[in-house]
Amino acid sequence: MLEWHKDAQLRLDRKNAFDASLVVGTAQFNRDTGRDRMARQPFAKFIDPTTGLIRLDMTRARNCPVCGAPPGPGLFVKDGFRHVRCQECELIYVSLILREDILIQYWREEMAWKNILKSQPQLDMDILKFGYGLDLASIYLNGSRDLLDIGAGNGDFVLLAQERDWRAVAMELNLESAAQLEKSGIQVIVKPLELVDIAPGSFSLVTMWEVLEHLTEPKNILYEARRILHDEGLLLILVPNAGSLVTRLLHERSDTFGGHSHLNHFNPSSLRKILETMGFEILEMETVITELGAINNHLGFEDPYLGEAPVFHPFLTPGFLHENLLGSRLLALARPTPRAQP
Ligand SMILES: [Zn+2]
Repeated sequence: MLEWHKDAQLRLDRKNAFDASLVVGTAQFNRDTGRDRMARQPFAKFIDPTTGLIRLDMTRARNCPVCGAPPGPGLFVKDGFRHVRCQECELIYVSLILREDILIQYWREEMAWKNILKSQPQLDMDILKFGYGLDLASIYLNGSRDLLDIGAGNGDFVLLAQERDWRAVAMELNLESAAQLEKSGIQVIVKPLELVDIAPGSFSLVTMWEVLEHLTEPKNILYEARRILHDEGLLLILVPNAGSLVTRLLHERSDTFGGHSHLNHFNPSSLRKILETMGFEILEMETVITELGAINNHLGFEDPYLGEAPVFHPFLTPGFLHENLLGSRLLALARPTPRAQP
C-alpha cells in the first residue's frame, strides 16, 4: 500500500478506475449523469448583439490573474465571453468576466451542476478519484489529520475523509449545499476564507477539487490556504488541464470552456507558476482522466460528447496521455516552501 504511488502500472490502474470514458463510455456517461440535458449558457440572453459579447455593464475587465500581464491576443469568444492567452505565463483566461456580485449570486443559487454531481454514475467515479487523492496526500503527511475542503459541494469528499478518520471541515458558498452539509453533521464555512477567522497553521491538508478555475482572484485563496496550513501541511489541487490533448483538439467546442463559470484555464506550466509564486513547492504534478472517448469521437468526425466513434489509433492510450501530461485534469500536490528566517 505504502509504495503504490511509485509503481507506474499500479498508479495508472488506479487512475483508469475513475476515468468514465474508459469505464462507462463517454456518450453513456454523459446521458447517465444528465450532462446531455444541462443548459450550458445561462447568460446567453445578456449578449450584446452589436459586439457578440456579454453586456459591458455586467462585466469587468481583468489582467492575467497569475502574472498580472495585460490581456494578449484573443483565442476565441464562447457564449459571449472572450478567452485570451497570457503571453507571459500561458494561462488561458476570460478577460471580461461577470461582475463579482453577479458571480456570487450565481454561485449561491446554481443547482444544475450540483445535480450532475449527485448522480450515482458520477458519484461512483468521484469516490475513487477522491480516494486516490487522499491516499496520495497521506503518503506525504505524518501526524495530525485535519483538512479543509474548499468548495465542498455535496460533501462527498469530506464524508469520505471522515470515514477514514480525518477531521474534515467544509467550505461552501452555495446556500442549498451548505444547508445540506450542516444537516449531515459536517462543519461548514459559508463565507469566503479571507472573511473567516481561522488561526494560522490550523490544517494539515487543504483540498480544492475543481475550484481554482472558477475564481476571479485565484491568488487570494492560495494565500489563505498557505496561511492556514501547518508548515508541514499539504495543498491538493485538481483543475481542468488546458494543455490536455482533448482541449488542444476541441478548442472552444470543449465543455471545459464556459466563460460565466470557468474563468482560468491552467496548464502544467501556469499552475506551477501560480503555486510557486504563492509560496508552495510542488511534490507531485500529474494528469488524471483522459477523455479518450471525446478524443476518438472528434477524430472520427462525431459529436465529441455523444458520439460512439471507434478507437482512432491504438497509440492513443491512457498511459501515453498521462506520461505526457496530456490528460484532461491536472492534479498537484504541494507543500509550503519554508519561510525565510528574519
Ligand atoms: Zn500570465
